[in-house]
Amino acid sequence: MVSHPIVTFPDEILLTKAVAVEEFDDKLEVLVQNLFDTLNAQDEGTGIGLSAPQIGVSKRVSVVHVPDDGYGPVAYINPVVLAKTAYGLVEESCLSVPGVEGNVIRATRVRVEAFDRSGERFVSEVDGMHAVCLLHEIDHLDGTLFIDRLFWPRRWRVKRQLRKQHRLAVMDTG
Ligand code: ZN
Repeated sequence: MVSHPIVTFPDEILLTKAVAVEEFDDKLEVLVQNLFDTLNAQDEGTGIGLSAPQIGVSKRVSVVHVPDDGYGPVAYINPVVLAKTAYGLVEESCLSVPGVEGNVIRATRVRVEAFDRSGERFVSEVDGMHAVCLLHEIDHLDGTLFIDRLFWPRRWRVKRQLRKQHRLAVMDTG
């Protein structure tokens, strides 16, 4: 089991569009396993999804696992949203933005096309927290964080505060 440190805002990789997976090989298998391992290593109830850029790999791979929701752990490789419906206000947080929670507008039902780790294409329709989490993860693959979706002016205040904390932390460590 390999749990990776989680990259946090404002690291550049979180703000960068990740590249599509082209090889469905052992390296991809290891990446998917590392994502699940890292997610499972988080404190209970703090993580339900993780994307490759969050462990420093700029590839379009996300995993979602909402305990007991009936979908089980699912890896989405090169996911593409086909349809989004049932929009609502959802409270979100993110392992890459520790200590911040906030309400964003999200679809709670989504039809997605993706590939599994063996390179098999699949289309699935998910709803509830799994759908919300999947959309949050696909945002990560596009370099977007949930704090980018907070309402103005909280979005501005949160990002300013986080950048200031980051500058102070960098100064501390030299
Ligand atoms: Zn996140």
